[in-house]
Amino acid sequence: MTGRGQAGAGDLLALVRTGRATTRGALQQATGLSRATVGQRLDRLFRAGWLREGAGGPVDSPLGGRPSITLEFDDAHAVVLAADLDTRHARAAVLTLTGEILAEHGGPLAVEDGPDVVLGELGGWFAELLVKAGHRPDEVCGIGLAVPGPVDTETGLVVQPPIMPGWDGYDIRGRLARAFRERADTGACAGTEAGAGAARAEVPVLVDNDANLMAYGEQRTGYPDCSAFVLVKVSTGIGAGVVVGGSVYRGVDGGAGDIGHIRVGADAPCRCGSHGCLAAVASGGAVARRLAESGVPAASGSDVRDLLAAGHPEAAALAREAGRKVGDVLATVVTLLNPGVLMIAGDLAGTAFLTGVRELLYQRALPRSTAGLEVVTSRLGERAGLVGAGAMVVEHLYAPERVEERLLALGV
Ligand SMILES: [Zn+2]
Repeated sequence: MTGRGQAGAGDLLALVRTGRATTRGALQQATGLSRATVGQRLDRLFRAGWLREGAGGPVDSPLGGRPSITLEFDDAHAVVLAADLDTRHARAAVLTLTGEILAEHGGPLAVEDGPDVVLGELGGWFAELLVKAGHRPDEVCGIGLAVPGPVDTETGLVVQPPIMPGWDGYDIRGRLARAFRERADTGACAGTEAGAGAARAEVPVLVDNDANLMAYGEQRTGYPDCSAFVLVKVSTGIGAGVVVGGSVYRGVDGGAGDIGHIRVGADAPCRCGSHGCLAAVASGGAVARRLAESGVPAASGSDVRDLLAAGHPEAAALAREAGRKVGDVLATVVTLLNPGVLMIAGDLAGTAFLTGVRELLYQRALPRSTAGLEVVTSRLGERAGLVGAGAMVVEHLYAPERVEERLLALGV
């Protein structure tokens, strides 16, 4: 926050949103602003529709005197669109500003069909989901997209993605914004002139790696007090997301956590064009290949997930073996980062895989690094990426440094 007595409307909003100060008196105390200045800034937030009075009624004021009205972030003044692309499947949703899913759709969508086709299709999904959720295109404040590859979040470009042919350097933000606008204009949800017109103004699109956003979604909703959180997604590929101090740790160019292409020595060919990658020997795709070789019908991580759920003994044995290989790499990750939570997510995340991870992790990592470590499976399941993508958009748009500009744009 800016210095004491300098807090802007965005700082006040942040204090209310995080629950650190939710009355006028508490805001005065937290910021050092006068009652009149707090009042002026709150008035702008009320006029924008971003704040509302709390349902709980007045509470005692920290400054004494009359009980104060509590303030809340108004999570119904806009909605967020989010999508999570896996290699062959995608999910999309309409979410409230506090992360509640209002409408959701999942279906086959192959990243190898290329960004033009995939993002065009997502635009259509978004238009239909908005209708289902009972919201208009002009109520959408932003779009968040999770992709299975490394992303430069400054530009929204994927950077040399191993398993996304045709996506390298492609303008994902522009294409998705256009796909949404075209479908919102021509689709069933262009019910009003205002709706269609407002959708024509460019909707901000934010893009990040799927494991990063799953980690962000899971940490915020399930482990908000965990200051070092690691999520490993094991599906058709393998990736990791790291949340440190409440923020995704991305490294200098978005490459942090891309553990799937660490060479572990085997000579199995990898989809990235190399050999011996962790993903080539321990992912859902790798387990599916091993099963297919021995006559069990399996072609992808999701097929393996179904076999594991049905208690297939060979699938379980291979998943445990894959877990040991991943656990070996995670011993280094855990030693380096000393996380409080290590979450295993994705198609292979189940008892057999987790057993394998634990076997190698506790054998190889220093006891000091694992003493306070919880090894868990996903809580949000296939919704983790959507929840994380929605939260990324909201945190970006309502960050104190962006609030002033947005309030001015709204004319308040
Ligand atoms: Zn590879």
